[in-house]
Amino acid sequence: MSSKAKQMKADGINVVNFAAGEPDFDTPKSIVEAGKTALDQGKTRYTPTPGDMALREAIAEKLLRVNGLTYAPQQIIVGTGGKQCLYNALQILVGPGDEVVLPAPFWMTYESQVRLAGAKPVIVSSSAATGFVPDVGQIAAACNSRTRAIVFCSPTNPTGAVFPRETLEGIAKLAEERDLWIVTDEIYENLVYGAQHVSIATLSKETQDRTVTVSGCSKSFAMTGWRIGYAAAPLDVIKAMTNLQDQVTSGATTFSQYGAIAAMRLPKEETEAMRKTFEKRRDLIVSLLREVPQVTTNVPMGAFYVFPDVSAYLGGRFADDLALAEFLLDEAKVASVPGSVFYGPGHLRLSYATSEADIREGVSRIASTLATV
Ligand code: PLP
Repeated sequence: MSSKAKQMKADGINVVNFAAGEPDFDTPKSIVEAGKTALDQGKTRYTPTPGDMALREAIAEKLLRVNGLTYAPQQIIVGTGGKQCLYNALQILVGPGDEVVLPAPFWMTYESQVRLAGAKPVIVSSSAATGFVPDVGQIAAACNSRTRAIVFCSPTNPTGAVFPRETLEGIAKLAEERDLWIVTDEIYENLVYGAQHVSIATLSKETQDRTVTVSGCSKSFAMTGWRIGYAAAPLDVIKAMTNLQDQVTSGATTFSQYGAIAAMRLPKEETEAMRKTFEKRRDLIVSLLREVPQVTTNVPMGAFYVFPDVSAYLGGRFADDLALAEFLLDEAKVASVPGSVFYGPGHLRLSYATSEADIREGVSRIASTLATV
């Protein structure tokens, strides 16, 4: 949808794009300067496969300072985006015959990456009634002797749910009882609004020893194109991920790694300005959507997505949310992502990583177009 919206824009059509999965801010200046300086200083050669030691040290410092996690730099790998780190982790942790539990709605890449590893995704749904926080009892019921891992993201793409500490404690206890790996995607960790982000690996040493914590620079520091993500995990896991990455991409882009060092040390006030802007936009889009007849909207606690329920409009003229999203793009010129792609049917994902003016215009177009159906 995002590509189609971009093409329509390029063709001169006035599209409001709520489909984007990236911040609309520029990368903070000091990070850009650090990248430029690295280039000027000739930092243009390979780094070690798991990343420049200076960056791994900066990540270790940040994990301790911000997340309360203690990792040696050797327990950290830097990859080409959080996506590569997740891919590497699943490749080495699971394989044919294994099952991986995915609390839904979830970012669709998880399902593909589980399948690429030869394992079977097992989907556990949640609903707006619980703010899209999964029920640990249902996750437990989905486990069997083949279950090897659970993969989740908090704050979540696409719902903005932030898993409370009790849910994480439940998942940690279950992982211990069932001997599961936990892969936690914390890429939106900075973007929380009135909720607290908790890294599951902080809960206990036992939990940390079975967890791969993935995060990166893309969302929190507006660095999607720099392609820097990282994972922290037990040493054996990082060694195996490094061996794999060594044969695929080697180390991440060198000058990007220097930008990432600056990101890890960026004063909180700078990211705080972006976070506050997102929070204001969240409040705006939720209040506007709540005025659209028969659309119900949960209050997302993190990330930059809202996940309204549009099921009242489905079943007649529009078979499903995919048909409705297509219609809204064609008729209202508003791009969204259908919830079904995240295993959240009956919803649309709207990204508010766009201006307040766009939010007002986009929701107004959705309302007036839905009023005609
Ligand atoms: N995890 C989630 C939940 C995401 O939404 C994304 C990007 O959309 C990523 C990971 C990947 O981020 P990157 O590879 O840019 O670090």
